[in-house]
Amino acid sequence: MSSLPFDPTSQALIRVDWTGTRAAGLVRLEAFLPAAGQAYSRTRNTDLGPDDRSNVSALSPWLARRVITEEEVVARVMATHGFVKAEKFIQEVYWRSYWKGWLEMRPQVLTRFNQDRLALKHVVAEDDALAERLRRAKAGETGIACFDAWVRELTTLGWLHNHARMWVASIWIFTLDLPWQLGADFFFKHLLDADVASNTLSWRWVAGLHTKGKHYLARASNIETHTLGRFHPVGQLAETALPLSEPFLETGPSALPVGEVLFEERVGLLLHSDDLHPESLPLTAKVVGAALLRSPEIGPVDGPKNKFLRRAEQDACTRLEAKFDVAAPLMASLEEALSWAVGLGVTEIATPYAPVGPIAWHLADLKRALAEHGIRLVRLRRSWDSRTWPLATGGFFKLKEKLPNLVRDLGRI
Ligand SMILES: Cc1cc2nc3c(=O)[nH]c(=O)nc-3n(C[C@H](O)[C@H](O)[C@H](O)COP(=O)(O)OP(=O)(O)OC[C@H]3O[C@@H](n4cnc5c(N)ncnc54)[C@H](O)[C@@H]3O)c2cc1C
Repeated sequence: MSSLPFDPTSQALIRVDWTGTRAAGLVRLEAFLPAAGQAYSRTRNTDLGPDDRSNVSALSPWLARRVITEEEVVARVMATHGFVKAEKFIQEVYWRSYWKGWLEMRPQVLTRFNQDRLALKHVVAEDDALAERLRRAKAGETGIACFDAWVRELTTLGWLHNHARMWVASIWIFTLDLPWQLGADFFFKHLLDADVASNTLSWRWVAGLHTKGKHYLARASNIETHTLGRFHPVGQLAETALPLSEPFLETGPSALPVGEVLFEERVGLLLHSDDLHPESLPLTAKVVGAALLRSPEIGPVDGPKNKFLRRAEQDACTRLEAKFDVAAPLMASLEEALSWAVGLGVTEIATPYAPVGPIAWHLADLKRALAEHGIRLVRLRRSWDSRTWPLATGGFFKLKEKLPNLVRDLGRI
């Protein structure tokens, strides 16, 4: 009989249904829950391949958009295993918050990334050899079997194991000699869990720019071990490359923007795809109208990411309607959102706080436009974020040390 507290051959654990609904996320959470304790910390680094995801939660697509919240995942895992046995898993959940807090206090890192990314597109347009290397990498035609397989996995499924992301990023930067910014852009376009902070900062970490001079080098022996021999790219990887460097960039933390509060008793609620769980928002007013601002990430090609996002948005609208007993239309543009808000006849619109990135920039434009109509856009920050982000002034250790305190109160959701 297996000594594991779960059935490792359970199909619900092995296979992931990547549907963007809350129901599908909760099914995955329940299937994975028994495996979130010590088994997770022992086995999580192995990439078993796309047909077996039994050793990791694969919850990132739902967590990244808060279709399910970090708070409820940690509370369920704590109730099942307790802190000591589930500490490794809980730490991983907090990595997302750490990256978000880190970037929120250093938005200039994202600004620089975006400037570089756009400038590089012009460089590629002028350099045929670079353009061809880039094309081959994105098509999975480099001849490095593991890299090509992971790229195809990314573009067809929209998801990769953490270790595979590290290897792909490392090979992209150090073996294929491609700009990290274009790799981060490629990941962001395809990942179901695309998260501005986790993605940009993880690429910087692999490159050796986050922890200056400390990069991550993919090695054939490590890949062989952690893919259980599926791949062994011996002699194909640049295993002695040096870390990247960059022009000076100030990365000292600045103050976090303060949280905002509602003053009115009747408000409109505008949801967006950085936070799709209106049921647990810290709302103190009656919601008299609701809407969802369509994600700027939804592109014209209906790949896995588009499908996931569209489904997650529809699902959130349905839950908005059920929760607040109002119609909850999708707003395709800022102009639509503006006329919806003006038509509601309220003076405050509540919206979940969006961390620095495309949605936050969208909301900043909307805030200015609403102000011209005498309407305040109030960005509600969750206590989860307010408690974790200030701990991201330095390395992850500072947040990790505080984990027992952070999780102590979570059972009361
Ligand atoms: C180059 C690179 C790019 C990445 N881009 C993204 C991204 O765009 N979006 C994204 O969500 N994650 C990103 N990650 C982090 C990580 O790979 C994924 O969050 C993780 O693989 C998700 O798998 P899981 O749900 O099975 O995680 P589990 O191992 O089951 O962990 C549980 C949860 O913890 C969080 N988590 C785990 N590891 C990390 C991590 N290293 N950083 C942040 N959160 C973590 C996720 O919410 C995850 O669902 C990136 C990592 C690298 C190396």
